[in-house]
Amino acid sequence: MPLRETLQRILSEYSASKSAPLEGHPLAQFIRGAAGTNISDALGTDSEGLIVQGSPGQGNWASVPWISIFDPAITTSATRGYYVVYLFHAEEPTVHLSLNQGTTTVRQEFGAKARDVLADRAEFIRKRVTDFRDRLPVFAIELGSQARLPIDYVAGHAMGATYRLDALPDEVSLRRDLRTIVGSYRALTFRGGIEGDTEPQSDLSDEFNIPADTSITETRKYVFHRKIERNRTAAKNAKKFHGTSCQACALDFSKRYGPIGEGFIEAHHLKPIGTLEEGVPVKYDVASDFAVLCANCHRMIHRTGDPSDLDGFKKRLYV
Ligand SMILES: [Zn+2]
Ligand SMILES: [Zn+2]
Repeated sequence: MPLRETLQRILSEYSASKSAPLEGHPLAQFIRGAAGTNISDALGTDSEGLIVQGSPGQGNWASVPWISIFDPAITTSATRGYYVVYLFHAEEPTVHLSLNQGTTTVRQEFGAKARDVLADRAEFIRKRVTDFRDRLPVFAIELGSQARLPIDYVAGHAMGATYRLDALPDEVSLRRDLRTIVGSYRALTFRGGIEGDTEPQSDLSDEFNIPADTSITETRKYVFHRKIERNRTAAKNAKKFHGTSCQACALDFSKRYGPIGEGFIEAHHLKPIGTLEEGVPVKYDVASDFAVLCANCHRMIHRTGDPSDLDGFKKRLYV
């Protein structure tokens, strides 16, 4: 089903559906399932590596149902990180396409200050992907609910587009907006997300011996690489596929350290860092794109000229 019909169906059926039980409701099933598939389809190849997930609520209808698009290197949950989301207005047949943030973890950390933190980060995001502002010109949204989550989403909104049922744009425009906002999402991630430029650089120079005078583009590539390999889903799958013994030196942490080392290993992303480019989707093929390495080998492979060359690295080891 086209994107336009997908939004149209939710916008036109949602307010009437809310009075019926959520469980087993066809619209709820649509939001959880087919709607996400339709959004992926609308993105075409731009959906590569992304996860689309919708929620009409849990137990009861949410005041604001949503369909989110996650980059698994950033988040796989609406509660954390930042992501693209369609947020459906609680009272009116209006939907916002939004570059937004997980609000739950911010609220856990900052309590009453959460909304200010979200608003500050939204402003930070607008500045970091300022080249997308003209094409995603809605900087403030309204969701028609005083519930905490919707109000936090209002604060967390960085940029996007707003559509009303009675003035829904055509399929081409909706797809263009969607591709643009996903483009801004990828650009934001590549440019360092919601973290400042200075911290990751110093972290990296400590952790992986990256020279302090490395250019911002090169540093961003490293930060991006680390983000990919620290992402929990990829790391878990890499372990599942490759096991927990170092693929370079065969160290098994549980054999050296006993029970505390059980299952401990680091995921290393094998895609050459030089090929990481802004806006280019990253695949998460754990078989070919990841290796598992012990902490030592992982630091060391990053000191070689080409951290993607595992075979070359193995040949250098003195054993
Ligand atoms: Zn090793
Ligand atoms: Zn690595």
